[in-house]
Amino acid sequence: MTQSVESLVRETVDAVRPLDKAYQLAEWDSAVSGTPEANQRNQDAQAAWMRFWADRNLYAQARRLHDGRAAKDPLLARQLKLVYLSSARNQQDDATIDELTRLEADVRAKYVNFRGSVGGKERNDNEIEAILDKSKDSAEVREAWEASKQVGAQVAESVRQLARVRNAAARAQGFRDHFQRSLTLDEIDENELLSLFADLESATRKPFQALKDRIDGLRAAHFGIPRADLRPWHYGDRFFQEVPQLGDVDMDGLFEGKDLVALATATYDGLGLEVRDILARSDLYARPGKNQHAFCIHIDREGDVRTLNNLVPNQRWASTILHELGHGVYDKYIDRDLPWMLRQPAHTLSTEAIAQLMGGLTSEPAWLSGILGMSRRDASRLSAQARDHERAARLIFTRWCMVMTYFELAMYADPERDLDTLWWDLVERYQLVHRPEGRRQPDWAAKIHIALAPVYYQNYELGFLVARQFEDRIQRTAGGIVGQKKAGRWLLERVFKPGAKEDWAGHVLSATGEALNPKYFVRAVS
Ligand SMILES: [Zn+2]
Repeated sequence: MTQSVESLVRETVDAVRPLDKAYQLAEWDSAVSGTPEANQRNQDAQAAWMRFWADRNLYAQARRLHDGRAAKDPLLARQLKLVYLSSARNQQDDATIDELTRLEADVRAKYVNFRGSVGGKERNDNEIEAILDKSKDSAEVREAWEASKQVGAQVAESVRQLARVRNAAARAQGFRDHFQRSLTLDEIDENELLSLFADLESATRKPFQALKDRIDGLRAAHFGIPRADLRPWHYGDRFFQEVPQLGDVDMDGLFEGKDLVALATATYDGLGLEVRDILARSDLYARPGKNQHAFCIHIDREGDVRTLNNLVPNQRWASTILHELGHGVYDKYIDRDLPWMLRQPAHTLSTEAIAQLMGGLTSEPAWLSGILGMSRRDASRLSAQARDHERAARLIFTRWCMVMTYFELAMYADPERDLDTLWWDLVERYQLVHRPEGRRQPDWAAKIHIALAPVYYQNYELGFLVARQFEDRIQRTAGGIVGQKKAGRWLLERVFKPGAKEDWAGHVLSATGEALNPKYFVRAVS
């Protein structure tokens, strides 16, 4: 039976659209309430969505038409490609889908409900982060850090099992493992990615070493201990993925008593982008049972965009809400006249690029004066430190991305290997953090992405690179982002409106006139 591309795309969209919306809504409900019923509904909605895309006939038709280049019109060809990729990503039998959704729901519930125990008291993630960030007591940060890892032991065996099941599905499709399959079906070339990461590793090695050396001096002084005694709990957060306090000025102090929602609104107003509707639908503050992370979700591809945050007035959350709203404006301003399949960002990494660009503004002098309301003199005094902070953040996160990406590469190559040791080998190599002596715990499993957002982290790094390339063009076009309506228009026209008309690489080329080029990022961190 042959089918035309038009009818395949139309029938697919008609069938998947309600399933997609139901799944997004269930995801949202489960994140805001965390009740077993909501988690169950989310699991069911996810399974229904996955079953739709798992349909073998759909996959066979899409693949045949795609491989035969049956679509001549570029928009139709792109829709067909996305149908093909979605069905290819979900080619697994019912037993596999059941096992994946059960395992994922089980570990998700454990992460969401996890509270580490410090000093005999239950602490949520924000409280543990606050201790790691602020305390000067080595014993206290160690206890908080160890508490934050307790969830690892609770989920490790399920995460390993998830890797086995994902690998089996990948191999059934002819891929080496889940890592290779994920990248390929995500339109990322594995060899190109690994060679790019190797280049980035060598380009960032010296600057990171110098930064780490400076950080070690400051952290040792902060705790009043010798440098040689520094261990993973001394770096200000659970994974050393963010910048610990570097100078005299406490950035968090700048946000005390500030209304982060008002600051975010003013930031986007300055670009001529409206976020009040997104904020009105968002869930902004911490509550028991609620997901402790942050994300943005587009429920229906018709403008019902929401963000979830757990705002407290500090620098991290000021930056996080700008980040999530960056995803939000991208989703919101995609051309609504595009076919449904194309009403999404070009790629996860493309929307991450915008989110990072926006989240990074809290370190910019123009933001500190124009939005936060510091005097120009104070803002410029702080600007050197703010720029230093932003550069440090990029370097630290790049090295952390390497730990995550190389860990996943190795974990999917062999889930049975000694992952506990592998984790600390990578942390020592890329982050230059000394492993805790004698520790035998699945600390890798305490990172939620490894379980629930597998083979995702490379998107953050690629997003960094794209963000700097966009920033370079915005700088040339509008002279900056903060308060620049021209910058907002550039983003709207060149980045947001086209949706998924092109793949991410084509999108970068169309938007900036140049293929992805890491030089803008390397220049910014060197
Ligand atoms: Zn993001």
